[in-house]
Amino acid sequence: PPDVAALGRSSWTLLHSIAATFPEAPSRAQQGDLVSFVQLFSRLYPCWVCADDFQGYIAREPPRAASRDDFGRWLCGAHNDVNRKLGKPVFDCDKWQERWVTGPKD
Ligand code: FAD
Repeated sequence: PPDVAALGRSSWTLLHSIAATFPEAPSRAQQGDLVSFVQLFSRLYPCWVCADDFQGYIAREPPRAASRDDFGRWLCGAHNDVNRKLGKPVFDCDKWQERWVTGPKD
């Protein structure tokens, strides 16, 4: 079985990196591709309890992909939902770009 923590870290890196490189002004097709990707990802994620809860989150909070920041904040909320469940600190979503796009100011 997969190492759930290692799988999680690398998956969040992939997902936040996709957010970081998503266009600031995506086309309709790009928005649709990203939402489809997230939905398929949630069905194929190889940790079944994780996948179930992630699908639940998607049902409560439909993925948003109107812009890079829109998706980055949606994803930050999804990650915080897991952080809460695991008792990890909640991340300040105003800082998602600093963590994943621009890097720390200093
Ligand atoms: P991670 O949570 O992997 O975070 C990596 C880095 O991302 C952090 O160091 C921080 O710099 C940054 N970060 C943290 N929060 C945010 C945020 N909100 N927005 C942006 N950046 C942030 N594990 C389980 O045990 N049970 C589950 O049900 C479960 N469900 C998961 C569902 C999904 C979709 C994914 C991708 C992972 C899931 N995991 C689950 C794994 C879990 O979220 C962690 O990846 C794992 O516990 C390792 O945690 P970590 O402390 O190394 O940091």
